[in-house]
Amino acid sequence: MSSAVSRGTTPVPPARQPRLTVLSGPSGVGKSTVVAHMRKVHPEVWLSVSATTRKPRPGERHGVQYFFVDNEEFDKLVANGELLEWAEFAGNRYGTPRKAVLDRLESGEPVLLEIDLQGARQVRESMADAHLVFLAPPSWEELVRRLTGRGTEAPEVIERRLEVARVELAAEKEFDVTLVNTSVEDVSRELLAFMLRRSGDRNASS
Ligand code: 5GP
Repeated sequence: MSSAVSRGTTPVPPARQPRLTVLSGPSGVGKSTVVAHMRKVHPEVWLSVSATTRKPRPGERHGVQYFFVDNEEFDKLVANGELLEWAEFAGNRYGTPRKAVLDRLESGEPVLLEIDLQGARQVRESMADAHLVFLAPPSWEELVRRLTGRGTEAPEVIERRLEVARVELAAEKEFDVTLVNTSVEDVSRELLAFMLRRSGDRNASS
């Protein structure tokens, strides 16, 4: 279930030690926009593609944004230990395919996961040297605006996501670093710089 991409003209220098960076934060904060922007500038950065039981949104493709699987397939992935972490989020399950991530780390490449808070906690437990980045909204009002403005989800889905977001915002202190999403360009640059820092260098600033 790997979807490796390597076609950049501006190669990212290899990290001095392979590192796993986890980008998390409330739904709607703009994690996927930040990651998409970073990969546009640095397409060689490898982002794990998750498996999910959620139905594809318009424009989403199997193997690109997610591996879209049914409940039975997801059960199998869990039972076979094929997921590094997994979580239920707003009525659907999401999980990170383990092998692709470990293969990349093994080959010395920085790896990025964009996952929810429950998943971030599982990664912290199972991979102690993973570095956790919390993407925060500029304000709660801005987060509500983004969540309600997307227009792709039913009101009850949005309400559930807001509930989850309230809990997730309080988890900021569990993370190694917080990036405030005021500008997609700035945040994606900071995220890349963070990914390329040495493994032991958690608190260094860029
Ligand atoms: P969405 O349905 O909007 O694409 O994603 C919903 C939430 O699931 C987001 O917070 C996203 O970061 C999270 N998510 C996506 N993939 C994974 C995964 O593999 N594991 C976990 N734990 N969360 C994920």
